[in-house]
Amino acid sequence: MQCPVCKTKRCSPVELEEGLRASACETCGGRWISHEDYSAWLKHHGATLPEKPFSEVEFDVGDVQEAKLCPDCQRILLKYKVGHGLDFFVDHCPGCGGVWLDRNEWQALQGKNLHDEIHRIFSTSWQRQVRGEQMAAKLDQAYARRFGQESYAKVKEVRQWIQEHPQKRALLAFLSDDNPYKI
Ligand SMILES: [Zn+2]
Ligand SMILES: [Zn+2]
Repeated sequence: MQCPVCKTKRCSPVELEEGLRASACETCGGRWISHEDYSAWLKHHGATLPEKPFSEVEFDVGDVQEAKLCPDCQRILLKYKVGHGLDFFVDHCPGCGGVWLDRNEWQALQGKNLHDEIHRIFSTSWQRQVRGEQMAAKLDQAYARRFGQESYAKVKEVRQWIQEHPQKRALLAFLSDDNPYKI
């Protein structure tokens, strides 16, 4: 296999997990998994593992941004943001369905138990969720800038308390009324 990043042919077969074959580039540390190998492994993998909310271990992921060509069928690989707390893209071939992972991306996916859901990252519903996450993160920053960190922390706490309160509507009416003691 020719590495899509460093174009060398110094790649060797590896086993990412028991029963999951891949090609590893010795120069950049990238991994190529063919659609057939991933599907075959998934079939024997069993139920999808529950996603871990936060990874204990931080990986130095070597996300390579430039366009890459599929090492099997030469098409341009498409990039898909992983999201779910992971800030990198995985490359997917629209022709043969193979997946390219840059250095340590497999380990990061595994750290969050997303390694058995890579095929789902390329779906419309996954990508819609990722965009929702990105929008929420942007709004979070905008609110923090507008209110200041301290006020924002306080208003978030109050908001959550109101949201969970059985008299939510009455509390909101009380809060928004300039003078709730006047009839
Ligand atoms: Zn390489
Ligand atoms: Zn391909």
